[in-house]
Amino acid sequence: MEASEVQSVFARARRAQAQWALSPVHRRREIMLRLHDLILENQVELIDLVQAETGKSRSSAFDEVIDVALTARHYAYRAGHLLRTKRVRGALPVLTHTTVQRSPRGVVGIIAPWNYPLSMALSDAIPALLAGNAVVLKPDEKTTGTAVRGLELLEEAGLPGEVMQVVPGPGSTVGQEIVAQCDYLMFTGSTATGRKLAAQAGERLIGYSAELGGKNPLIVCADADIDKAAHGAVQACFSNTGQLCISIERIYVHEAVADRFLSRFLALVNDFRLGHGWTDDVGSLISAEHLARVNELVEDAILHGARVLAGGRPLPDLGRTFYAPTVLIDVPPTARLHTEEVFGPVVYVEKVATVDEAVAKANDSSYGLSASVWGRELTARDVASRLEAGAVNINDGFGAAWASLDAPMGGWKDSGQGRRHADEGLLKYTESRTIAAQRLMPLNGPSLISRERYTSLLSTALRLGKRVLR
Ligand code: NAD
Repeated sequence: MEASEVQSVFARARRAQAQWALSPVHRRREIMLRLHDLILENQVELIDLVQAETGKSRSSAFDEVIDVALTARHYAYRAGHLLRTKRVRGALPVLTHTTVQRSPRGVVGIIAPWNYPLSMALSDAIPALLAGNAVVLKPDEKTTGTAVRGLELLEEAGLPGEVMQVVPGPGSTVGQEIVAQCDYLMFTGSTATGRKLAAQAGERLIGYSAELGGKNPLIVCADADIDKAAHGAVQACFSNTGQLCISIERIYVHEAVADRFLSRFLALVNDFRLGHGWTDDVGSLISAEHLARVNELVEDAILHGARVLAGGRPLPDLGRTFYAPTVLIDVPPTARLHTEEVFGPVVYVEKVATVDEAVAKANDSSYGLSASVWGRELTARDVASRLEAGAVNINDGFGAAWASLDAPMGGWKDSGQGRRHADEGLLKYTESRTIAAQRLMPLNGPSLISRERYTSLLSTALRLGKRVLR
């Protein structure tokens, strides 16, 4: 698509949004509940499509089906409450009647990556649409088909035409036109692009939220159940072939249990079945270019002294984008993948002497998206509270926090800005309008009382109010 075509998409979206914003919230809710059912009914076709575009395993593709269904259901039931006009405490008790309304922002631009093409096409659009916005979505060029099919299902569920539109094309033209036109921008992708778009959104003074890269740590405490920790860790490192912003790329394991953990972890990795069937654990990477980058980072680490305990190479016999699940140790800080996100099936493991050392190492990163801690819950909670990350999973790799849709999800530091999920994941797509009606007496006092007397009365009222109104 050309940039000029995106402009006419926005013009049509604005017309459609004006009507959509007038529709009652219960009607929008019914559409999202129908979408929930349609996604589940059409799951086999959707999984086929996601697999054809990304090469991921079937069970990783099914995660997307579940994510969209859960999101549709969660926000369908939450939207009515969130969008209702709320009475809040006014400036002067009784005399100031204050309410807060929520209005849609207009046309929300969503720019999505390729790694979760169904989730990323629909799960951010659902709350934006429920809030009364139109949506213009640009999927990654490699995964346009899934986004288009997702939109078809939304329309089959009852979404009026042109309330949501998909604009395929490159970021540099189509993506940039979205940034120039939209009233709110939701971006998921790399930190480099996210930073650039943040500056542009800032220049336009539009709202912006972004989920970006991560270099997520997993800590195994001395009191962890080692078998469960090893199983959880392989899931956390290799789901979606590691092409997951919240997947684990660094493991810090207490020296008291390190040998046991490592041998169990490696046994599980060596047992992996690679392929595209239901029984396969790990699929292929998105593209040959991505494979080359993953391999380059691993070779750089080896060159700097890292040791390979598993994998460490492409698997051309299986297909041109298969890469062996890779476990490294002795990765020095000079190796690029010590700090850079790989976004592939590669993890390094380090022994630590204390929990404090594990926490310090986990936090020693410019990223702060997700983390995982394995241990007795009491110990693990204490460790979790010290981590600089938007989400910390205890005795789970990443899914527990992600699927807790009532809790915010997003990144500290270079991992993002704003949040998805939770109430703020819908409210960010609204503008608030405060309406305060002053009754009986103006805020600066009745005309019959002198200013001096009024300030003295007001000061007494403030002192009393501090005790009474909490
Ligand atoms: P990317 O930033 O290159 O591309 C993401 C999207 O932005 C694509 O649709 C692309 O076309 C578009 N884009 C690129 N340049 C643009 C520009 N100048 N203007 C407008 N749009 C532009 O990211 P990628 O490499 O394709 O995806 C992988 C990255 O995404 C990884 O760093 C990963 O951690 C991150 N990611 C984060 C999350 C999350 O939820 N935090 C989820 C998935 C992926």
